[in-house]
Amino acid sequence: MRADVLIIGAGISGLSIAYTLTKRGVKDIVVVDAEYVGSGSTSRCATGIRASFTSEEHVVLMKHSVELWRELSKPEELGRYGLAFDQGGYVWTASKDESVELFRRLVTLQNSLGVPTRIVDPDKLKGLVPTMKVDEAKAALYDPTAGKSYVFDTLNAYLMACRRKGVKIMEFTSVRKLVASGGRVKAAVTERGEIEADTFIVAAGGGSKELMESIGIEVPLKNLPRHVMITEAFKPVFSPLVIDWDAGGAPFIVQTKEGNFIIGREIAEEPEKSLKSVRIDFIPTAIAPIAKWFPWLKYVRVMRYWMGYYVTSPDHHPIYGPVEEYENVYLACGYSGHGYMLAPVTGKLIAEWVLDGRPSIPQAERLTLRRIREGKLIEELAIVG
Ligand SMILES: Cc1cc2nc3c(=O)[nH]c(=O)nc-3n(C[C@H](O)[C@H](O)[C@H](O)COP(=O)(O)OP(=O)(O)OC[C@H]3O[C@@H](n4cnc5c(N)ncnc54)[C@H](O)[C@@H]3O)c2cc1C
Repeated sequence: MRADVLIIGAGISGLSIAYTLTKRGVKDIVVVDAEYVGSGSTSRCATGIRASFTSEEHVVLMKHSVELWRELSKPEELGRYGLAFDQGGYVWTASKDESVELFRRLVTLQNSLGVPTRIVDPDKLKGLVPTMKVDEAKAALYDPTAGKSYVFDTLNAYLMACRRKGVKIMEFTSVRKLVASGGRVKAAVTERGEIEADTFIVAAGGGSKELMESIGIEVPLKNLPRHVMITEAFKPVFSPLVIDWDAGGAPFIVQTKEGNFIIGREIAEEPEKSLKSVRIDFIPTAIAPIAKWFPWLKYVRVMRYWMGYYVTSPDHHPIYGPVEEYENVYLACGYSGHGYMLAPVTGKLIAEWVLDGRPSIPQAERLTLRRIREGKLIEELAIVG
């Protein structure tokens, strides 16, 4: 088999890249996945979308991505297939004076980069999240541009649009290795035979590391288990995703469009641990700090709990774009827990790298593998959904 572009990985990154390439006129695209569409981290995510980060690179890329989420939700785009960006905002609560000071500095940075975050006092916080007990809050950082989108609607919308535009999606087709010679990748070897292509895009989440190793490129990724739970459904209670900045492990709660609450928190974990290694202690550990803000949670039943991987890079920023050794392979991986929200801008950037030779957003050029090889890591403090 042969294609102009072969994308390895049918998570939200691979589908967004395929969709964006079709919009830019590329016709012959194949997307392969070892399992089924969304089976990696994507369908396990908490669906949060925000530009309130602490590094310039994340803020700028996510500002573009938020604009694209809005575009994609229009009926003439993926909205016609059900994708809806629910722009209900994010609030980050601070219980300590030093956190309020940090928030002030972050608001200055975010505003200077065009993201209209602001500090709100406890009364305003109560207005944004009426069922919240706010007595212990000193203040909150409010990001009105942030939001969420239902992951299965989003995946389905990308999938249907790709199929209509002629993208071939091959599920249950694992790529065992890449084959390269003369500075170019020639083919992907799968259990169903070889796929040759002019351009290869590796958007294979945690599988990206092994694939790149097969052509001698080290991509330092770790699969870090993350846990999340969902409760029974209620009528809409509040819109923003709420994160406790000071509790440690960034506990958060968000209500889905169906009315369920998704609750998560970082707990100590070993990279590469099996996704079947259940941590029942996660449930009280995550609920306790959230129940401090929402005491009524004690009447709410947890329906389901699951694990997924944050595929992390050394500096918790994505690894994007070309690698020096090969002229026709591009990376889109290492999002460290933010690949869902970044997906629209990921599609735009990778399409630009492939078709124009460079991305139109200068900050993206700082996110290639080269920064890691040269030890020029970028700091991000707000690592959470
Ligand atoms: C609990 C949890 C909560 C999260 N919350 C958020 C959030 O709120 N907001 C946010 O932005 N992000 C969040 N994330 C992160 C987000 O889910 C990921 O960053 C994102 O889904 C990455 O998408 P992807 O398409 O790059 O990777 P994936 O969805 O992992 O897709 C990669 C695909 O590649 C396939 N693959 C791998 N190896 C091969 C191979 N050799 N051959 C063929 N196919 C292969 C896999 O089967 C997989 O389907 C969360 C993650 C978890 C686990």
